[in-house]
Amino acid sequence: MPGDVLVFAEQRSDKLHPAAAQCIAPARELASKLGGQVVAVVVGHGVEQAAAAIEKAGAERIIAISDPALMHYSALRYRTALAAAIQRMQPRVVLLPATFMGRDLAPRTAARIGASLATDVIAISIGDGGAIDVRRPVFNGKAFGTVRLPADRVAMATVRPNTYAAPAGGGGAVRESLAFVAATGDERIEIVDVVKSGGEVKDVTEADIIVSGGRSLKSEENFKIIYDLAKELDGAVGASRAACDAGFQPHSRQVGLTGKTVTPKLYIACGISGAIQHLAGMRGSKVIVAINTDPEAPIFKIADYCVVGDLFKIVPAITQEAHKLRHH
Ligand SMILES: Cc1cc2nc3c(=O)[nH]c(=O)nc-3n(C[C@H](O)[C@H](O)[C@H](O)COP(=O)(O)OP(=O)(O)OC[C@H]3O[C@@H](n4cnc5c(N)ncnc54)[C@H](O)[C@@H]3O)c2cc1C
Repeated sequence: MPGDVLVFAEQRSDKLHPAAAQCIAPARELASKLGGQVVAVVVGHGVEQAAAAIEKAGAERIIAISDPALMHYSALRYRTALAAAIQRMQPRVVLLPATFMGRDLAPRTAARIGASLATDVIAISIGDGGAIDVRRPVFNGKAFGTVRLPADRVAMATVRPNTYAAPAGGGGAVRESLAFVAATGDERIEIVDVVKSGGEVKDVTEADIIVSGGRSLKSEENFKIIYDLAKELDGAVGASRAACDAGFQPHSRQVGLTGKTVTPKLYIACGISGAIQHLAGMRGSKVIVAINTDPEAPIFKIADYCVVGDLFKIVPAITQEAHKLRHH
């Protein structure tokens, strides 16, 4: 329907990505102004739990596209599936989370259906003449720009994770399923292996607290003190690109311009200089604590709490204090 807002309900192993549920918040706002519905599309193989989760977040209509060929994310097949759902539903706006999957899928789908697209948006509104106006960071987050998506075509946007809170209390959605019809060329990408990353602590995009380490940790083994603090605070471990490039941490934990964008309640930067590309991924954090031996380190310019000192002494001391507080 012309006033509908469609949300791509990203899932892996039938688990809805939290950033997808967050997309329901701006989708609801827009749909109520456009007089349409919030429609969620779940693509995968066996997507019952993900569909239930997006319903709980407030989707009013759910289209499930479930097929063995969609078991694992494949850019081309998922694009074909999402494009088919858009063509069937004819929504005014399509929102995807600005996750790795969303960032990969959105431009391919937009190109396939001739939609306009803005990425990494932090606000969406209805502009003049039925256009869709979006606000997004530019110049590595140093400034914000407004982009107008024209009224004459479907407007697509990827929404920066943690910009909106996921709504709750939904239910009673209309469920439909759509068969997957592969397009010519979809088989050009073959999935050879699926490697799990992450380990026992949370992913950076899902945590309220992130403890991040930089090159100064010097080795993978030394990151143990970062993991100890993260576990004590029930948080996630992040890292600078220099630390990931050096092999101390997997790139799935990299925060920054070419890594993940995070906006936790608390970000503790341990031995991270604060290069502009790192700040681009974490400057939206509510409270920033920086630990650095160099009082002139650029990270101190944006930190709320500045600790000048050796992280190898300070981090274990904070862990110990946090442990005492939790177990008292
Ligand atoms: C196109 C492009 C994209 C990029 N994308 C990213 C990105 O996504 N994420 C990212 O992080 N970077 C990115 N970078 C790299 C970025 O420019 C920096 O090189 C990188 O962030 C530096 O990492 P670092 O702070 O760990 O290391 P360094 O710059 O080497 O800083 C180490 C810091 O640790 C401090 N230190 C040393 N010993 C101790 C100690 N014992 N206790 C406390 N402090 C100590 C030092 O004073 C210093 O400030 C990108 C660069 C380019 C060109």
